[in-house]
Amino acid sequence: MAKNWYPIIDHDKCIQCYQCVNFCKHDVYTIGDGGYPLVINPLSCVEFCRGCQKICDNDAISYFGDNK
Ligand code: SF4
Ligand code: SF4
Repeated sequence: MAKNWYPIIDHDKCIQCYQCVNFCKHDVYTIGDGGYPLVINPLSCVEFCRGCQKICDNDAISYFGDNK
C-alpha cells in the first residue's frame, strides 16, 4: 500500500512496551534484535495512518514521508 509512509522508531524514547506492535493490524512490525519494534513490512503500512503514533505514550514514533 504505502511505499512512502511507514513508522520510524526513536530508540532514545521507546520503552519497549509494544503497544504499537500489538495495535497494528497490518503486520508492519515485529520485535527486532535489542527488543525495539522493527518495521519489517513497510509496504503494508496504511498511508497517512497515525494509529501507532497516537497509541505510543512516549512520542517515539514518527513517519518516513511525513513532511510536517
Ligand atoms: S508504543 Fe512507543 S514506547 Fe511502546 S514499543 Fe512502540 S514505539 Fe516503543
Ligand atoms: S501507521 Fe497504522 S498501518 Fe502503519 S504501522 Fe502504524 S498502525 Fe500500522
